[in-house]
Amino acid sequence: MLFINLTRQNEIGANSYYLEIENKRMVLDAGLHPKNEGEAALPLYKAIPVESLDAILVSHAHQDHIGSLPVLMRRFPDARVFMTYPTARLSDVMLHNSVNVMSRQRDELGLHAYPLFTHREADRAVQLWQSVAFQQYWTIDGERVSEPNPEPSFEMFSSGHILGSAGILIRGEGKRIFYTGDVNFLEQTLLRKANFPCEPVDVLIIETTRGDRQLDPNYSRRNEEQRFLQALEEALCRGGSVLIPVFALGKTQEVLTMLHLFRERGELQEVPIYIGGLSTKITIVHDQLAHLAPRQHENLQILDSISPYVLNRSDIQTTQINRKRIYALSSGMMTEKTLSNRLADRLLSDPKKSIFFVGYADPDSPGGRLKSARPGDLVQLDENLPSREMKCDVQEFDFSAHAPRELLIDYVRKVVPRLIFLVHGDLPALSWFKERLVQELPSATVIIPEPGRHYKFN
Ligand SMILES: [Zn+2]
Ligand SMILES: [Zn+2]
Repeated sequence: MLFINLTRQNEIGANSYYLEIENKRMVLDAGLHPKNEGEAALPLYKAIPVESLDAILVSHAHQDHIGSLPVLMRRFPDARVFMTYPTARLSDVMLHNSVNVMSRQRDELGLHAYPLFTHREADRAVQLWQSVAFQQYWTIDGERVSEPNPEPSFEMFSSGHILGSAGILIRGEGKRIFYTGDVNFLEQTLLRKANFPCEPVDVLIIETTRGDRQLDPNYSRRNEEQRFLQALEEALCRGGSVLIPVFALGKTQEVLTMLHLFRERGELQEVPIYIGGLSTKITIVHDQLAHLAPRQHENLQILDSISPYVLNRSDIQTTQINRKRIYALSSGMMTEKTLSNRLADRLLSDPKKSIFFVGYADPDSPGGRLKSARPGDLVQLDENLPSREMKCDVQEFDFSAHAPRELLIDYVRKVVPRLIFLVHGDLPALSWFKERLVQELPSATVIIPEPGRHYKFN
């Protein structure tokens, strides 16, 4: 068996991993780096040591896991591509949106390599994907089987992170190899927690996103929802508007579900709610697939219940923000030129306005800089915008779609792997897990896999 980490650095960037077992060659995930540009945004596909691949297995539809899938498929046209049906539907929307973003970047930043693929290529890619359901056995050659034989075979398990997200169990050479993808072991407002295998595995490839943060022992989703509700009500009672920067896929639907439940219980006043165009498309997929997802509120149709207004790029500078309004706009990290970035620039110096963060923001991103700023600090959200004094109310809430580190450690203890690869984390997070797992499981080998290096084992 051979494992190669195809990311360019040990970080949460463009996720992709090469795995060879019983002469079958596969790649797990095909991400695109959210911050890098051009070739540097792609995984190290040149480090794949073979001319052809048998399969590409996709864990979920976030950009850092599917963003370069058409590029990988172009390099390996014979590879079969597997993912869950919701992941396929969401990836279709995400990849086409990505072509639009890259085309704009080509014009604005002069990036001649962009777009890295075209709408037509994305369309062709979508046609070739094969969808699989949770807890079905499939051979790497694409045959559904009633038992996990012949090997190597794979099986997907709900990972509780976003709609369609999966952990992938691969059986081969008499071994069990489990890739967690992005996972959440806690119930979210909309999505149910992961349903992962409990039997021992030999090799575990595990995400470590939250390794740098201890879970507050008093944390509960319910309490956090209440705190969020109170903050919203206070802001609206002041006559203010609230911006909630969110990822279009996952966090938007979680926040809209919360707002709907608050309103339904009569706890939140009726004010206009705004979302972006991409979020609307993605929410439509959530509504269409409500019956297919392991989720709470199975009959909830989010768009009908919330009736949000849709804000486009052209409206963002002119939309009236004087009265009570809630804006759930992407991107979650307030990346330059996105809707949340532009609106935040308009709210920043107004003490009546609020910005509520509900998820992770890279410390170097505009959202990360704003989170760490204090009232009165000068904040610049884009190099083309002026620095402004921060006078608005900025608060943070924890609605993470990733498992707290303590629960990841519990899972590792349960499946007692003899070999553990730590991935999808920044260095402090990876180091914490390594140190902790060496103590917890002294007989296991714990590796932070160097990009491009070959790890062979029997
Ligand atoms: Zn994800
Ligand atoms: Zn991820």
